[in-house]
Amino acid sequence: MSIPTDLVNRYPWLPSLKLQYSDIADKEPSEFISDLFSKGDSKQISERVLLIFEFAFNNLEDIPNPKDENLSIQVYILLKILIYALNNKLITNRIANLYSKNAYNKMERDNSESDLYNICLDLELRVNFYDPPEKFGIKILKDNRERKITNFTIYYIDYLKLASKLRDDYRKLTHNSLKNGYVYIQNRNLMRLIQEYVRTKILVEETEDKASLKSFLEEVLKIQEFKELYEKIKNIWAKKEEDFDFSFKIDITNKTDILKLYPPCVLEILKKAKEGQNLVHHERLFIVWFLLALEYPVEHVVDIFSTLPDFDREKTNYQVEYAKKKKYTPYQCSTLQSISLCKKEKYKDTLCLEGYGSIEPSERKKLKHPLAYVRIKQYRDEKEGEFLKSKEKREQEESQKKNE
Ligand code: SF4
Repeated sequence: MSIPTDLVNRYPWLPSLKLQYSDIADKEPSEFISDLFSKGDSKQISERVLLIFEFAFNNLEDIPNPKDENLSIQVYILLKILIYALNNKLITNRIANLYSKNAYNKMERDNSESDLYNICLDLELRVNFYDPPEKFGIKILKDNRERKITNFTIYYIDYLKLASKLRDDYRKLTHNSLKNGYVYIQNRNLMRLIQEYVRTKILVEETEDKASLKSFLEEVLKIQEFKELYEKIKNIWAKKEEDFDFSFKIDITNKTDILKLYPPCVLEILKKAKEGQNLVHHERLFIVWFLLALEYPVEHVVDIFSTLPDFDREKTNYQVEYAKKKKYTPYQCSTLQSISLCKKEKYKDTLCLEGYGSIEPSERKKLKHPLAYVRIKQYRDEKEGEFLKSKEKREQEESQKKNE
């Protein structure tokens, strides 16, 4: 079944792009780029693409509406070519997160059940559409009980396929109402699943095949306008990357690079967040409780989540504030081990693997808590600092004596 062309114009990530615009979508990248930059609207397309990169690098959560929606297909294809050309996982994740969030916001703004139904058909999702909507459960908010209604059910296999990377508890199949193998899903939740589809569609693995990337770049960078755009994006990223590195150096003591004090289980989560990868529920809880225990400011904890695919600043802020009020204690090592979040083997960390307290292995104490890791590292850092200072002083005194 073919879907309206207008829908593909508005949502160019739909599979029907290849059918309805095969003259554009099937072109070789270099041919697409040279055609694009030979036309009058190329400046507008470049500006739009550059804006998307800038917004992604600045961690913004929505892209302003384009002046001309008819160019969204060219924008989408050019964006994908640039992602491949830049071959940088951090950039790819940021673009995928922003672009897919924007797709969600657009579906929400358009607020059309028939569009949503057509999108599902095009994605080959097995859905049922109900008009009028069906009642299927009860939402309890404080003292209020409300019947839930929806226009859609989705086949449970398709639901699981799309929801597999979304780790929230409420998305688990056991927490959702089913009817004959179909899951009742509210429109917004369905849009959220489609957002995840868009995100994975944008994600391109960093290529290991450097030779073919090199020959691809040699070919496409011959087109001057594309080269300028590519260089501009690279330059903006180079400046931004320094900021990101800095923002992950959490300075709670003003004296030392705090990252050196963090255990592998924490570094791993920060690394994933920095790359824009999704975090599982336990990772989220642990990193929040851990950073709050070190009196890390709420807004900075919230910022750590800003690169995640499903980031919602207001919601995250509320959750972090709540955790702060409750003063939760971060998981201890044994818990982290049982939920596979301990990374001592991966990072081959001596303190985690061998313990502390004595040179004699049999007398060493086992590390029990990630916060103890920070304290021990901090203590060792200070001792090392003191040792170096007194060594320097001794050497100065000795050289003075020699000169007398
Ligand atoms: S031993 Fe403890 S502190 Fe070290 S990585 Fe494992 S859980 Fe984290």
